[in-house]
Amino acid sequence: MAYSEKSVIYSAADFANSGQVFRELSREDKPCPARLAVFGDPIAHSLSPQMHNAALEVQAHEFQYVRILVTTEELGHALTDLSEAGFIGVNLTIPHKQAALEFVDEITDQARLMGSINTIAVTDGKLQGHNTDGPGFVIAVQETLQLKLSDQRVLILGGGGGAGRAISVQCALEGCPQIYVANRTLEKAEILSEQVEESLGKIITPISLVPEALENALESVNLIVHATSLGMKESDPSPIPDGLLTRNHFVYDTVYSGGKSALIRQAEAAGAKNANGLSMLLQQGALAYEIWLKEPAPVEVMRKAL
Ligand code: NAP
Repeated sequence: MAYSEKSVIYSAADFANSGQVFRELSREDKPCPARLAVFGDPIAHSLSPQMHNAALEVQAHEFQYVRILVTTEELGHALTDLSEAGFIGVNLTIPHKQAALEFVDEITDQARLMGSINTIAVTDGKLQGHNTDGPGFVIAVQETLQLKLSDQRVLILGGGGGAGRAISVQCALEGCPQIYVANRTLEKAEILSEQVEESLGKIITPISLVPEALENALESVNLIVHATSLGMKESDPSPIPDGLLTRNHFVYDTVYSGGKSALIRQAEAAGAKNANGLSMLLQQGALAYEIWLKEPAPVEVMRKAL
């Protein structure tokens, strides 16, 4: 990797002297300012810089993408200062996807319904909020499981969380014939269901994340999407009890933290086709890149970099 800054994590305070800090970076010993970033807390684990910097380099853009540790308290200031610091956009990750809504000037209709943004583009000093998680998921399911999302009967586990809600709304937008949303806090799934019906006229069935309700839903769906925070550690349990998956199910686990999650192990044991969340990470990133750069993303370069 030709980026000398790749292990550096900046902080929101760096915006105060951004004229210096973000222009001091170098690529192959040439100054190369930061114009793109991911904001999160924690942020050390983010794989986005390696994917985006590979793309920027191959398309000969003389700027780069950095990780910036931004706390909840700092988010408003960091976003307000983006334009002046010379940034053309940022990605947002935990815990900022919902909180950032109040700091942007415009937001797409889909992102508004999803209730979160993962991408901000800076245009003429204005911040535009987008959500590329949902559209990225559509492409990821097609390329990993060879499924056209619009034809699937879907159960989304953790559909009341940020990623789960984006995926659930996307399933409704695609016109999936059946959508169950299971969430530990049932009320969040119920609110989502009401909002989707009101905005899109589509039915989402909210259910509790408990064995009886899951067993019932699993009998009628073919695609199971996991979007709870469980599974980031290999020792985390699966939200689905053993013995309920069959070889006719397809499993997409949005978690991509290295080893196999308990859910993926269950899918393998049942003979069910499965995929982890790396493809969604790639595709949401490629869509964000296209929003910022207004040119096709070099997806294969980004995939290789991941
Ligand atoms: P989030 O907004 O904090 O949502 C967390 C979800 O997990 C909520 O539905 C929450 O239920 C549920 N949950 C948390 N602990 C649980 C437990 N012990 N048992 C059952 N449910 C539990 O987080 P997020 O940003 O949506 O991220 C969720 C997952 O999606 C993470 O694993 C992340 O890695 C993954 N993700 C992947 C991608 C990708 O590109 N592949 C992108 C974004 C996120 P309550 O509502 O009841 O709290």
